[in-house]
Amino acid sequence: MKTPAQQTVTFGGRFAREFREMAIPWRAEEAPDPQLLMLNEPLAIELGLDPAFLRSSEGLLLLIGSQVPSDATPVAQAYAGHQFGWYAPRLGDGRALLLGEIAHADGRLRDVHLKGSGRTPFARGGDGWAVVGPMLREYLVSEAMHALGIPTTRSLAVVATGRPVQRETVLPGAVLTRIASSHVRVGSFQYARATGDIGLVRRLAEYAITRHYPAAGETENPYFALFQSVLAAQASLVAQWMLVGFVHGVMNTDNMTISGETIDYGPCAFMEAFDPAAVYSSIDEGGRYAYGNQPVVAEWNLARLAESLLPFLHDDQEKAVELAVESLGEFRRQYSAAWSEGMLAKLGLQDGLDGDVTSPLLDDLVAVLWTGRVDYTSFFRSLGKAARGQAEPVRGLFPDPAAFDAWAERWRALSPDADAMDRVNPVYIPRNHLVEEALAAATGGDLDPLHRLLVAVTNPYDERPGLERYAAGAPEDFGTYRTFCGT
Ligand code: AMP
Ligand code: MG
Repeated sequence: MKTPAQQTVTFGGRFAREFREMAIPWRAEEAPDPQLLMLNEPLAIELGLDPAFLRSSEGLLLLIGSQVPSDATPVAQAYAGHQFGWYAPRLGDGRALLLGEIAHADGRLRDVHLKGSGRTPFARGGDGWAVVGPMLREYLVSEAMHALGIPTTRSLAVVATGRPVQRETVLPGAVLTRIASSHVRVGSFQYARATGDIGLVRRLAEYAITRHYPAAGETENPYFALFQSVLAAQASLVAQWMLVGFVHGVMNTDNMTISGETIDYGPCAFMEAFDPAAVYSSIDEGGRYAYGNQPVVAEWNLARLAESLLPFLHDDQEKAVELAVESLGEFRRQYSAAWSEGMLAKLGLQDGLDGDVTSPLLDDLVAVLWTGRVDYTSFFRSLGKAARGQAEPVRGLFPDPAAFDAWAERWRALSPDADAMDRVNPVYIPRNHLVEEALAAATGGDLDPLHRLLVAVTNPYDERPGLERYAAGAPEDFGTYRTFCGT
């Protein structure tokens, strides 16, 4: 007889079966007292999972991986990675497991993955646990990113385990159930390449092509086309981060997906006062992953992917290097095009305007925002009001409104479309002070502030009465915001 979990879900185990060299079968730890904190019902339904079952005690055991269908093969995945520029040959899922792949309503497969499910052979010094605050943080921010239309892993559930976990203080343990197009990372290719087994790299590339870029498989040089596809996806992704003021915080190569989805929300933050040097992560002392550095870092990470794929780009290794370099040169062009196009949309300007007019307009906008340290999100939304003739709210954001006025005159001359602006400029983002407030309450057992914040940020473009505090910047006394890793 099938258990309820088996009736509810079948996990494909393709990665586990085909990549035994980089997938260690492993089991999640039992939890002393599992309690559901968050369940993403719409996502569950898209995945063909019954929310009522997931809420049941057996459902919770499935969500934390301690009771999975007997034909499932949970694995800890191996990967390498450059962390802050330093190569670590063996990272891997130290506290995470891939349960397997399931079919989404769109017909494509998704990985079901756990974070905080206990130590694995990749745990090194770590305890294998995750705690409630940071797992809810990933849940909240990834769902906000999804609602903003930015490619990202999704969050299906957060379950408190009832296990006390030692951090700086003792905190409640939790498991995040995460959904992704796949968990193949740049670091997965680095790991495969470092084994010296060229066949493994080839198989991984083929796997990535089938799962993410089937069109690349139809080309003359599928491996090169794979690389170009990843590059295009990342150029677009990072442009979208920049356009909403998102700072990932830890863009190590193991935290960059092949699919082009944002992954591994750790010390991330949304920038308020515009500043290319904005850094929030307490461990990013050199500002390597500062807001304005993200495009450069993405390109650097893609160069690491190119190195891993080099044997397949061309039979002649000199030619392979040439191809890689030429292709990497495309990143800047593609990124800039995506950013400019997105910026023009944020300004309500239609395509096809003269670049000799729009290019300096964008450059000068960056300069006035930077000089004034203007709240990035409020600026664009208030600018929509200015497009309707109501200039005071946006002028009020500038310490020196005259600088803005000169810029705005040039902008208004191009006839911006206010309604179009409101469709692309969010009112509500997960502002750092709101996130902290919601997570502190949740850690203390009150999930209401988190639910209210989720209501705001999962419908970010639609301004609603009563939600004013979710649109406002941090209070003065919030101070310099720092986020913490290793959570
Ligand atoms: P991250 O910074 O979350 O991307 O993690 C970097 C690496 O550290 C990955 O290999 C993680 O699996 C591992 N890791 C992070 N936290 C823990 C933990 N508490 N226990 C074991 N491994 C961990
Ligand atoms: Mg990671």
